[in-house]
Amino acid sequence: MPNATQTYRLRAAASGREALAPVNEHGVYIDRETGEEMQPVTRTLPLAPSASALLRTPENLRACERCDQLIGIDVSDCPYCGLRQRPIAGSR
Ligand SMILES: [Zn+2]
Repeated sequence: MPNATQTYRLRAAASGREALAPVNEHGVYIDRETGEEMQPVTRTLPLAPSASALLRTPENLRACERCDQLIGIDVSDCPYCGLRQRPIAGSR
């Protein structure tokens, strides 16, 4: 399984508590505090396999139009290729 160590966002249905954890296909995830079973709801970036374990949330990122690297939405110049980023649509 290439995604054996993919990190997922987990959510406990009853309490709505969330956690981030590496998930494998057959695991069961229990909230340490409440004992509730937690279900994986979404994968986090970067998608496995990746050299980086840094957690980034998709809603705070966009892809640079030139180099396709993921950068923060609040960054005005791409840190990878230097391309000036457009204002975010709908932000004004
Ligand atoms: Zn770029």
